[in-house]
Amino acid sequence: MHDQKPRVAIVGGGPAGLMAAEAARAAGIEVDLYDRMGSVGRKFLIAGKGGLNLTHSEPRDAFVARYGARRDDVARWLDAFDADALRAWARALGVETFVGTSGRVFPQDLKAAPLLRAWLRRLRASGVRFHMRHRWLGWNERGALRFAHDDGEVEVIADAVVLALGGASWPVLGSDGAWIEALGGRGIAVAPLEPSNCGFDIAWSAHFATRHAGEPVKPVVLEWTRRDGTKTRRQGELVISTYGVEGSLIYAASAELRDAIKAHGPTQITLDLAPGRDLARIDRDLSHPRAHRSLSEHLRRQAGIAGVKAGLLREALSADEMTNPKRLAATIKALPLTVLRARPVAEAISTAGGVRFDAIDDALMLRRVPGTFCAGEMLDWEAPTGGYLLTACFASGLVAGRAAAAWSCPRRPRESGDPVPPAHRASR
Ligand SMILES: Cc1cc2nc3c(=O)[nH]c(=O)nc-3n(C[C@H](O)[C@H](O)[C@H](O)COP(=O)(O)OP(=O)(O)OC[C@H]3O[C@@H](n4cnc5c(N)ncnc54)[C@H](O)[C@@H]3O)c2cc1C
Repeated sequence: MHDQKPRVAIVGGGPAGLMAAEAARAAGIEVDLYDRMGSVGRKFLIAGKGGLNLTHSEPRDAFVARYGARRDDVARWLDAFDADALRAWARALGVETFVGTSGRVFPQDLKAAPLLRAWLRRLRASGVRFHMRHRWLGWNERGALRFAHDDGEVEVIADAVVLALGGASWPVLGSDGAWIEALGGRGIAVAPLEPSNCGFDIAWSAHFATRHAGEPVKPVVLEWTRRDGTKTRRQGELVISTYGVEGSLIYAASAELRDAIKAHGPTQITLDLAPGRDLARIDRDLSHPRAHRSLSEHLRRQAGIAGVKAGLLREALSADEMTNPKRLAATIKALPLTVLRARPVAEAISTAGGVRFDAIDDALMLRRVPGTFCAGEMLDWEAPTGGYLLTACFASGLVAGRAAAAWSCPRRPRESGDPVPPAHRASR
């Protein structure tokens, strides 16, 4: 018999861990949350800098398709907490959301801080205990959690544990992927952590990089080759950087570009710099005599190409080719770029790879460590930007938190899908 109330330890205070804490606490379980940083939710706060994209309003089928090979797994989490539930949850915290023109869902004020503040207030009021500056190191020989703390190493034993340690992007915000070693030591299968929603290197000339780094290229159509070999095109905006390209359009293609480079080496993409005009029109317009006008002026007037777009053309064509209207027109409509490599995971928006799905059960419990559950970006799924990342982190956190609560409290009536605790397990 337990002499204390059941207790769940959550390790990692990002969206997934906080949601797991909320779910376990709502089930009446004592909850202690540990994080290596001085405060929780740092990546969530950064996500709010450019406008917090909480979720997406598109229909369910389209939504789950964003998770690619993992769509069926994520769909199960979304059964517990989908985009509508997420919006209702935010509303209950006093944050109304709206659907942008692209279908993306944002808080009215676009910010993460008010939502996080209200959430932490509610979590604290509900009795969740926060333990900051506790860096999880793994397990000791007795199966207790080991934490490095300013005062030395701390040992924690709980009835159930949720690991929500994030991926490896932006490590300065807390998630550095160091957990891989501890999980690997227990024989847990982890797919290598890779950049997702990331930029790519391109060998710009020094002149182009210096002159145009930071400039958006828009509107532009990006064409790339999909995994099945078909070409796909998407219109949007990308940004030139000193090392290559980044921005939403590049992120949308990033998983396939990354995998293509991994399989075959540098890969080619093409840009249509004038999406609104067809080749015949540009060809005809550029063939008009240029008279005394400079080539730049001619390009601007006849084809609407100037600034960074003209710079891209000069990167791709020789001085001679630049004076050939046919060659110019063809390159404006299909400018080839060789993408060399993905930027490091530390610079990416999110992380692919992580704890493999065959290492966990449907309740997100590690098969090799009964009573320990995983949630969020540390699991082996990826998704494009658009609110899909946060939605899956929240939803998996909820699933793991509920399951951990059920595990820690065998007498509580179980919901279907909750794991069954073994008859004899170590008590605290
Ligand atoms: C710049 C940027 C903008 C983004 N914008 C959006 C957006 O608009 N919409 C969207 O859907 N997604 C966005 N994302 C992605 C989103 O923020 C993440 O997918 C999400 O935060 C992952 O949640 P998580 O809880 O799994 O991990 P995290 O948020 O990374 O949290 C993990 C926590 O675990 C802690 N931790 C890690 N290791 C240890 C350890 N050993 N011991 C103790 N604690 C540890 C960390 O300190 C951290 O607090 C953005 C990401 C970035 C970088």
